[in-house]
Amino acid sequence: MPPHPPVIEDPRILARYPFLPQAVKHTRSILENNGVTMESLLTDGWLSDIRRRGDLRVKESILHDDGIGVPTSDISTDLGRMTESLSFLYAMLVACSTFEERVTARWAEGEASRADAILGLDNESFDIIARTYISNLRSEQIDGVLVYSIPMTDFIELGPRISGDYWRLPNRPLDHGWVTMNPHSGENSKQRLARLLKERIREDLRTRCDERMERIDESFAERLSEPVGAVLTILQSRAKMDFNAGDATRSDWPPCMESAIAELAMGENVNHAGRVFLAAMSAAIGIDIDQCAGFFSGAPDFNLDTTRYQIGHIYDREYTPAGCSRLKLDGRCPVSKGDDSICDKPKMKHPLSYVWWKQRDRGQRPEEVQEESTTQDMESANP
Ligand code: SF4
Repeated sequence: MPPHPPVIEDPRILARYPFLPQAVKHTRSILENNGVTMESLLTDGWLSDIRRRGDLRVKESILHDDGIGVPTSDISTDLGRMTESLSFLYAMLVACSTFEERVTARWAEGEASRADAILGLDNESFDIIARTYISNLRSEQIDGVLVYSIPMTDFIELGPRISGDYWRLPNRPLDHGWVTMNPHSGENSKQRLARLLKERIREDLRTRCDERMERIDESFAERLSEPVGAVLTILQSRAKMDFNAGDATRSDWPPCMESAIAELAMGENVNHAGRVFLAAMSAAIGIDIDQCAGFFSGAPDFNLDTTRYQIGHIYDREYTPAGCSRLKLDGRCPVSKGDDSICDKPKMKHPLSYVWWKQRDRGQRPEEVQEESTTQDMESANP
């Protein structure tokens, strides 16, 4: 990226494209001018709409491959500009507080795809934004059509990341080190270039997320445990769509889930928090509701109809399983330091992350055959 991006002072552009490096200072001034601190951004009632919008930005990026579909607020007003800038910041904080690379990668992809879509239609500010991400830019009228060219070095770096013949250098006209971005596939030259810019925007956002994750401390991340848990739940359901739900074998389950199952099977009276967690966790990782009800069959107060009704409520509402800090407070985390290497990881904040770590390790060692299927395991858990 150019080391010195062009100056952008128009607050509408900075709000419409809050990911711009030039927007960082603008966002800071919005915080200062409105007396908003990081703490109040997370908690103040009057900022709840901004948080909702920020949550949407993250959730949509996980749910949709074609980017975030949230329409831009009315950036002609102070409130609209503030909403855009701060919801972007809040979304980044939530994504980074998951400490989950799959979330930050999808969020960066979602924001970059959104940028690709709106930039290609933006006649007013396209040039200055393009120059933020590309070292140089040339435009000319060819047969009455505006056509952009970019330096070959930029194209060589970014083009190969995109699939399709258009993005191979031998297929692009070259003129003294300039690559011509002809219209193609129903897109004009600007839209083709916007597609290329998307690569840099995503890369820049991922770098910024990595830096921010280094700075986020545990107590700050814990204050975001609710939205973080909701995002992780969505990611888990998404993973279930992308991969076989049956992939989560019992060896992937976290100790807090195992201990709740074991205690219930032994007839112990697991507290309310433990029961709700077990049902929400079972729903999140795709365990059938009847099999989940079976976990409770050894409980001293077990009644199948009541249990099924209560669990059904949690399944229907897609409750987010509690995070590690909540479970610790409720006495539902059975591990101490040194008991489990995954739980010991400094960035382990949520039992769903435990499942992913396990699955990832399993994916890296395919020779390790999982001996028991989820179903077999669950049967054995219910004597
Ligand atoms: S650290 Fe978290 S994932 Fe591990 S057992 Fe405790 S609550 Fe569960």
